[in-house]
Amino acid sequence: MTFKVGIPRALFYHEFSVLWQTFFDCLNAEVIVSGETNKLTVDLGAARVVEEACLPVKIYFGHVAQLPLQKLDYLFIPRLVSIEKKTYICPKIMGLPDMLNASGLAVPPLIKPVLNLVSRNSYEDFLREIGRFFGQDISRIKRAWQSGLQEQKKHESALLGDVNQAVNNTGSVAQDKLTILLLGHQYMIHDRHINLNLLEKLKLYGCDILLPCHISKETQAALVKKLPKSMFWSHGRVLLGSAFYFSSLPGPKGVIILSSFGCGIDSFVVNMVIRYLNKAKIPSLSITLDEHTGEAGIDTRVEAFFDMLCCRRIKDENYFSAYGQFLGHAEGAFGVSWADSYHAAPHK
Ligand code: SF4
Repeated sequence: MTFKVGIPRALFYHEFSVLWQTFFDCLNAEVIVSGETNKLTVDLGAARVVEEACLPVKIYFGHVAQLPLQKLDYLFIPRLVSIEKKTYICPKIMGLPDMLNASGLAVPPLIKPVLNLVSRNSYEDFLREIGRFFGQDISRIKRAWQSGLQEQKKHESALLGDVNQAVNNTGSVAQDKLTILLLGHQYMIHDRHINLNLLEKLKLYGCDILLPCHISKETQAALVKKLPKSMFWSHGRVLLGSAFYFSSLPGPKGVIILSSFGCGIDSFVVNMVIRYLNKAKIPSLSITLDEHTGEAGIDTRVEAFFDMLCCRRIKDENYFSAYGQFLGHAEGAFGVSWADSYHAAPHK
């Protein structure tokens, strides 16, 4: 018998779609994914979760509501606690199955295995829990997961290949071309409705665009290790690791940081990134997104940012810089001591 498994096109689906799809294919399950995010998705989701939830979580619930729930045998909603050694995922993502139970949506049985790589045997338990729903022995489940991991790795390697548009094989940016690093959660960057089509808008400026998925996780992790203390959140590792990598590339560049209103992690990780970029004298623009769908605000800010970057290339204007130079003449007042120690650390 073929089971139908529903997966919302939101949150970590944007990162692990290849792994999950391949895994369920190998178990002969039919995967049904919700469609692209639209206004109805946001409205449906906002009506199902507490007001304080961030936009991506609201959207997640909108996607659940838009799945053909009656036709599904199961809904896949893993409880992701830690997906890498010694780092954690946001508590809102850990709590998705509970929030779903409280949402009032009539959902099919949930496949909600816990993945917590901080604890031993978590992978084994995670796979056993999924196996329970498919009545298959654990070795078959493990093989299916391995196939998923292999496909995911290929997919991620192909994304690293994309970076050659901006960065050639020797690791240097074309000297005469403006490069923008777009930072944020994958589910913010790759959901056109959330980010008001920002990626397409940036392409119109003719710049090269670098995304965190273009920089290998190993590189990000290695660079973040040079911080005086460990980074607790996986997301922080990605953002800071990408910013550190980007700062070492030559050529004119700027960073745009997308964050979500109500995101606890972004509230301090983005601040760390901005302080680091200020220190490294890299112009940055921080955009916080919520349910508003008017594009004029974001268009104006992006346009102004590009104007500023271009002016900066043509002449060294005697104004406040976009990376905060002269603001209060007070590096110390901004508490950048960790950024100083990062710079002082030996870089390989
Ligand atoms: S990390 Fe931030 S944006 Fe993502 S789910 Fe958690 S609170 Fe929301």
